[in-house]
Amino acid sequence: MQSVKESIKGLKSYNANQKPFRIKLDANEGKNILFKDISSKGLHFEEDFHINFYPDNDAKLLREKLSRYIDVAPENIIPGNGSSELIDMVFKTFVDKDETIMCFTPSFSMYSVFSKIHSAKLLEVKSNEDFSVDIDLMIKKAKEIKPKLILLCNPNNPTGYLVDKKDVERLVSQTDSIVVVDEAYMEFAHGSMVKEVNKYRNLIVLRTLSKALGLAGIRLGYMIACQEIIDVVNCVRSPYNVNSITQYIGVLALKNKEKIKDYVEEVKKERSFLSQELKKLHFTVYDSYANFVLIKSEIKDLADKLAEKGILIRNFSGDLEQCYRITVGNRKENMILIEYLKEIVNDEKI
Ligand SMILES: *Cc1c(COP(=O)(O)O)cnc(C)c1O
Repeated sequence: MQSVKESIKGLKSYNANQKPFRIKLDANEGKNILFKDISSKGLHFEEDFHINFYPDNDAKLLREKLSRYIDVAPENIIPGNGSSELIDMVFKTFVDKDETIMCFTPSFSMYSVFSKIHSAKLLEVKSNEDFSVDIDLMIKKAKEIKPKLILLCNPNNPTGYLVDKKDVERLVSQTDSIVVVDEAYMEFAHGSMVKEVNKYRNLIVLRTLSKALGLAGIRLGYMIACQEIIDVVNCVRSPYNVNSITQYIGVLALKNKEKIKDYVEEVKKERSFLSQELKKLHFTVYDSYANFVLIKSEIKDLADKLAEKGILIRNFSGDLEQCYRITVGNRKENMILIEYLKEIVNDEKI
């Protein structure tokens, strides 16, 4: 279309996998551990829940609960309609047309989408062969180029690689760029930066309820940063950006710290089980600190072959050709997956 702005020409709309499935291991969604009875009982809303009023623009109660969940003051938190909205808000706040931003590659695909939308130049620093990353190289390039933003996904999607906290701190302290640490999967790892936000004027941490809390459907993420950053980001935030039902469910969900911890432990156990089983089948399996594992395989169209059996995993093109990202399922799902993979591997040999 002629009138569309230059920066978004060539962008494709987000394409979520819509195939029918028996086992869904393609989008890193957590299990529904907190609202198991949602279909039988429905959610119970209090009498003072007013669906005709706009939601609390400050999400006061939700921020208090988030504050307790991560042990950081409510003043340092902004909730968003998924952390995706918060990435967009960061761009809106800090990135002017033609300014440079940096990230490692491969990483979360939305970084490049948002940088296109906001007409930024994205400079990607390549990961090593084994998908580890060189923080010193990033620091060196950042000092040269002085990007407006550095986006660091930690643990990284889709590789599962975790940068040591001391290296993240070096990056933040040795550059003046705003460093956005996307910790969507941090519950499954260690070394969160959330408690360091008041030490640095250039640190933003993003978290979400989509993964470890199994609440991808309510669209709830949050940003943690120092007061100065929170104040300016709040100026670009849309009014009432988090709807009242999401705020309400978020508050209920965050009361379950123990259940969440147990679930995270289960996922970690299953992650090592799944990794071991995949290695036995001679896939290349990359060490992961998230709720998924990345594998490499010569087998052609592996994702399609599994989809025929009703199992969805994520495939990639380009630099990640032959790589597949598999969300860690429960024991039963992982066993079924492994059984089908065995069949597929055996068929290949014939
Ligand atoms: C899943 C994911 C998110 C979370 O997005 P939401 O919008 O909160 O669902 C953010 N960053 C990365 C890297 C992710 O993988």
